[in-house]
Amino acid sequence: MTERTFSIIKPDATERNLTGAVNAVIEAAGLRIVAQRRIHLSKAQAEKFYEIHKERPFFGELVDFMTRSPVVVQVLEGDNAVARYREVMGATNPANADEGTIRKLFAPSVGENTVHGSDSAENAAMEIVQFFTDDQIVG
Ligand code: ADP
Ligand code: MG
Repeated sequence: MTERTFSIIKPDATERNLTGAVNAVIEAAGLRIVAQRRIHLSKAQAEKFYEIHKERPFFGELVDFMTRSPVVVQVLEGDNAVARYREVMGATNPANADEGTIRKLFAPSVGENTVHGSDSAENAAMEIVQFFTDDQIVG
């Protein structure tokens, strides 16, 4: 089933000029980048995006990190894109991530873990509309 998921290339990656390297892994995995934009998240945008984590002890640190440098927001399309991208990303903590995954290859720590990917089709739809209009997504 062809579906779409939402991705963010996080500040630790843009700071190290890894946008292209991350995109190469995404594309090699068979996911198509159907929308992409580089933006600097405001504190309000980062807080809204990670609202479900607001009671977690790392929330403040997470918002500081996500607003520290530009990010690249993306829509990815492909067969089972939500689950497929979670596989390609690897575990939240890069120490637990499988070989060849983006987080194993590039992530310095559990907090600064290089990429975000939606965890369900419902969340993907809600996350995509926070950053893209329909006409900006070209499948
Ligand atoms: P994922 O991004 O794999 O879906 P979560 O939704 O659990 O992971 O967490 C959201 C983000 O919060 C993570 O990607 C990471 O940037 C940060 N984070 C998660 N756990 C920790 C932690 N223990 N310490 C610091 N930051 C964390
Ligand atoms: Mg998550």
